[in-house]
Amino acid sequence: MLNIALFGPPGAGKGTQSEYLLKRYNLFYISTGDLLRKEIAKGSEIGNEAKDIIAHGGLVSDEIIVQIIEKSIKENPGYNGFLFDGFPRTYIQAYILDGLMLKLNTSLNCLISIEVPAEESVKRLINRGITSGRTDDNELVIRTRLNEYYEKTIPVIEFYKKKGILCSVDGSKEISEVQEEIAKIVQNELSKSLLNIVLFGYPGSGRSSQGIALAKEFNLEFISSGELLAKEINENTKLGKKILELYEKGQLAPQNYGQLFPDEIVVQLIEKKFQRLNNAKGFIFKGFPRTLVQSYILDGILRKHPSSITQVIEIEVPILELIRRLELRNSTEHKMPYDASMSTIIKRLQDHETRTVSIIQKYSEIHGSTKINGVGTFEEVNRRIANVIEHGFKKIR
Ligand code: AMP
Repeated sequence: MLNIALFGPPGAGKGTQSEYLLKRYNLFYISTGDLLRKEIAKGSEIGNEAKDIIAHGGLVSDEIIVQIIEKSIKENPGYNGFLFDGFPRTYIQAYILDGLMLKLNTSLNCLISIEVPAEESVKRLINRGITSGRTDDNELVIRTRLNEYYEKTIPVIEFYKKKGILCSVDGSKEISEVQEEIAKIVQNELSKSLLNIVLFGYPGSGRSSQGIALAKEFNLEFISSGELLAKEINENTKLGKKILELYEKGQLAPQNYGQLFPDEIVVQLIEKKFQRLNNAKGFIFKGFPRTLVQSYILDGILRKHPSSITQVIEIEVPILELIRRLELRNSTEHKMPYDASMSTIIKRLQDHETRTVSIIQKYSEIHGSTKINGVGTFEEVNRRIANVIEHGFKKIR
């Protein structure tokens, strides 16, 4: 889950920036100001109680705030996270937010403070008042709202600074620049909570078919370096052209197609995936890392974002069964050039053993690894792995 609170004086641009975040991420928007205005429009009891306070620029009681937030959360389950706007507005409300998050078995990732000088806020709000139709967007009330902000709301900053989850952005810049800064922060937070799985298994163990199905089920990006490589070539991208060049120069042998290629290419491919990670909750890596060097590279890429490997899963299938499966595949439409003869099959299995087993050992020591019995129907094996992934999600919340 990604939970963000947008913080800043009235007129900082919280509403505007929220719109952008909501479009990009599947978050549930909780603007206490909007919720209160809705209650007022409905003429509800809460609305009647809040009406005068808002009109004068004061702060509504915590009881009311908790009630409207709880109600709104209850009515809208099933989101990837929350975006709070205008809450928490007092030091006490910061505690309340922690309590609410705990109840939902999650926590606030960060408070993004949009910093704008007081006079700039006043100017913006007076302008907004011309079109917003909000009774509290007139100069007298604006000044009261700002006083409330500096007196009661600013202390909230300290609360989150101590927790180490305060991020500040300069809100006096252009909207698009502020947006970019916020996007960077959010992307960073998102990376921290990614579920990154390295899926190991011998050729024929079902890594690809299982990986693809599981990635779909759990909204993860499936990364098979071999397939990424082929895609770059097919789409004739800059990188694809470079890869072809390497083939032509003989630095990449066709029989190794999709297997071993220069590490700087692999790095670029994975970095590209990171940049385009929108709502995905993490990665399933298959066929990468293939060497010990690549395992260090992957750790480095993940650290940079900043993320890490959360699970190492190894699908185990007895060697004779693997040979049987690979030979069988050769007579189907899914056949690969490297399934063609028994000697190539055995060579691939041997290559895998010499290269990958040492990485699995390294990963097992650092991250621990879970062995999955890969014998059985597709569905049986699939459920076994899904259980492990579900467990992983619970751990990172
Ligand atoms: P906003 O739309 O965030 O500018 O809020 C408009 C008004 O609603 C504020 O001036 C307050 O009177 C009230 N309000 C909104 N959020 C809160 C909150 N978290 N605590 C207390 N009062 C709030």
